Amino acid sequence: MQPDINLALKKSSLITPFFVTSGNSREISLKLLPEARAFSVDKALKAAELLQTAGLSSIALFEYGAEKDSTGSMAFNASSAVTRTASLLRREFPGLFIISDLCFCQYTSHGECGVLNGTAVDNDESLKLAGRLAIQYCEAGVHALMPSGMLDGAAHYIRSLLNDRGYTDVSIFNQTAKFASSLFGPFRRAAQSHETQPCKSSYQIGIGCRAQAMKQIEIDQCSGADVALIKPAIFNLDIISSASESFELPLAAFCTSGEHALYFANGCDDEALRSFIFALERVMRAGAGSIFTYAAPYIARYLQ
Ligand SMILES: [Zn+2]
Repeated sequence: MQPDINLALKKSSLITPFFVTSGNSREISLKLLPEARAFSVDKALKAAELLQTAGLSSIALFEYGAEKDSTGSMAFNASSAVTRTASLLRREFPGLFIISDLCFCQYTSHGECGVLNGTAVDNDESLKLAGRLAIQYCEAGVHALMPSGMLDGAAHYIRSLLNDRGYTDVSIFNQTAKFASSLFGPFRRAAQSHETQPCKSSYQIGIGCRAQAMKQIEIDQCSGADVALIKPAIFNLDIISSASESFELPLAAFCTSGEHALYFANGCDDEALRSFIFALERVMRAGAGSIFTYAAPYIARYLQ
C-alpha cells in the first residue's frame, strides 16, 4: 500500500540552533548538549560555511555566556555576539536564512525571560524591551525573529512595530506553545541561564493545558505570526497534530536540549542518529513543517 502522507524530513526542513559568544578564536564544547558548540564571531563564519556545505540553510542564533544583570541590558550592546554575527553572516552568506532568538533569559541575572516586577515578569515592560531588541536585530540583517519568552501579545506587538519601521519582510517565528518542562534544563545550563526565583511555570503552558496551547496558536494566527513553534517537539505530537488540523498557520517544532540529551548522551553514533530521525519523522507526520534541532549537522548526512 502506498503511504498517504509524505514524511518529507529534508535538510531544508531543519533549523540549526547556533550559539555565539564574545571574544576571538573561541570554540567551546557545550558538555550538556552533546556535540553542540559555541563560536566566537570570527569562528562563526567557518562554522556557518560548514553548515551550508552540509546542505543546511537555516540557523537560529543564541548567545552563550553573556554578561548578565537584572534587566538583561547587555542584549542591547550593539556589538553583542548575536548582533555582530547576524550582520556578518547576512553579508557573507546571502543564501543563509538567519533567525535570532528574541528573549532576555540569556542576559538576566535571575534567568527569567523579561524584567521583573517583584517576583513576576512584567509583561508590558518586557514587550517594550523585546521590541527595541527586535529592531536592533532587524538592523543587523536577520530574516526572522523568534520571540521565546511567552509574553502575552508578543506576535501582535512585534509585527506592528516591524511594519511601522518598514521591516515587513522580516518573519516572526513565535514560540507560541511552549510547555513548562525540565527538558529545557541542559540548554539553560549550557547558556548559563540560571533562574534564581523560578517563575517560568507562570507564563509557560502547563502539561495538561491543551486548550490553552490551541488558543495561543489561534491568537498567533490572527496576530501576524508567520510560524507558530511548539516546544518540546517529540513529547507534543498530539498538540502538533491537533494544531495542524485546526489552523493554516505553519508550524515548527523545537527539539529541546533535554530531548537531544536523551538520544545523544553517549554521542552521535549511527544508532542514536537513526533513532532520532525515526522520532523526527513522527514530528513531521504529526504536522510540523520544520524542526529546530541541535543535531541538524549530524543528521543532514542521512537526508536529501
Ligand atoms: Zn527566555
